[in-house]
Amino acid sequence: MSNVWFITGSQHLYGDDALRQVAEDSKIIADYLNDRIGAEVICTPVVTTSPEITKVMRDANADDNCIGVITWMHTFSPSKMWIDGLKTIDKPILHFSTQFNEALPYETIDMDFMNLNQSAHGDREHSHIYALMRKSRKEVVGHWQDEDAINEIRIWVNAAKAFAEGSKLKVCRFGDNMRDVAVTEGNKVTTQAKLGWSVDYYGIGDLVDEINRVSDDEATELVEKYKKEYTIITEDLEAVKEQAKYEIALERFLSKTGCTAFTTNFQDLHGMKQLPGLSAQRMMAKGYGFGAEGDWKTAALTRALKTMADNDSTAFMEDYTYNLTKSNESILGAHMLEVCPTIADGEIKLDVQPLGIGDREPPARLIFNAKPGKAIAVSLVDIGNRLRLICAEVECIKPEKEMPNLPVASAMWKPFPNFKSGVKAWLLAGGAHHSVLSYSLTKEHIIDYARMAGIECVVIDDTTNFNDFEFKLMVGDAVWH
Ligand code: MN
Repeated sequence: MSNVWFITGSQHLYGDDALRQVAEDSKIIADYLNDRIGAEVICTPVVTTSPEITKVMRDANADDNCIGVITWMHTFSPSKMWIDGLKTIDKPILHFSTQFNEALPYETIDMDFMNLNQSAHGDREHSHIYALMRKSRKEVVGHWQDEDAINEIRIWVNAAKAFAEGSKLKVCRFGDNMRDVAVTEGNKVTTQAKLGWSVDYYGIGDLVDEINRVSDDEATELVEKYKKEYTIITEDLEAVKEQAKYEIALERFLSKTGCTAFTTNFQDLHGMKQLPGLSAQRMMAKGYGFGAEGDWKTAALTRALKTMADNDSTAFMEDYTYNLTKSNESILGAHMLEVCPTIADGEIKLDVQPLGIGDREPPARLIFNAKPGKAIAVSLVDIGNRLRLICAEVECIKPEKEMPNLPVASAMWKPFPNFKSGVKAWLLAGGAHHSVLSYSLTKEHIIDYARMAGIECVVIDDTTNFNDFEFKLMVGDAVWH
């Protein structure tokens, strides 16, 4: 299980009784958080000297299960002592600016109390050294039992889990990127250096071999499962069985290669009868990342965000078609087949329909509408000299009318702060047509994740002012290299 180290700083100025109290209170806070933030909280002994601080940071680095450290100042811990330790630590850091007692004890407060409970004082010394050393961290402020503060920590923990998984995240690319397309491209090596993702090519023929090894019985058994989960529209169960074989083969192939995300490309389907549709959707529903047209960045991002969201309501998506009716403007998102059913609202239909692209037989696919509600759309682009994460808050809506002839899963949403500014900002930032749509995550998850990776993150939300946004992008060009 992932763990987070809770490290309390102090010094020897206040005597042993005070240090005992600091240790006791730290344990109480750590235990409280342990039950609430989604990771085991390990309370380390209070650190009071430079060698102790350096050692605890080295040990945290060396613990494979440690996804980050939380630092807390009950008292005052002179920050020159922290310099060597902070040079050492390379895991995500959260500074919790909290105090053991919630209310000030007006009647009884004296200098002993002040010296024992001086988080406000100690926090400033502590964060000064982070600032001076340009050490990125999340600052969380509030009482340790405050739900808002705990939620901020929980979000950071989820982001840290996905960040920690980065170095194990392998993307299997069946085929290259779609010919001539720019936005799905990028530097795989610099991306690995930042986010840990390794992205490797595998021949489609190797997958076809795996598909040919799937027995008819196995595929038939899986089709029976589909019948229980979905409303079967098609009578062409042979076409459905073909995708069942793809699903089984994909899972075996990815398991063999240690990959948790994959891409396909309709231009490279040698030996396959259909473009993977239903099978890609089913794989995503199990938590695998996916990117169409060779889009390995979105494949990995889908996996990373699914990890962050515990695979709740998080899907590969594509901006497809506008509704430009005045004051009711919206975006219809879909893909030629592959939208993850974790965002489905109600009935999911399974059908086989012709597909004009890819020059193969009509593929089986799941068809559904995405649910209404607040969500974020996230895009990762390589803009030449660096990666940029773009996170837009959106409101998913129920379509005004049925779309009986639309043979794919779809979502409809309105961007914030309004249609024009939201779309303009996304375009100006170079956001892709492929994105990850998540109802479970918030912009704070994405900001935390970007901070951990040390990459640029731009947010488009209800506070976005288009002119300021343009200026922010210009500043970003100066700041990020
Ligand atoms: Mn696409």
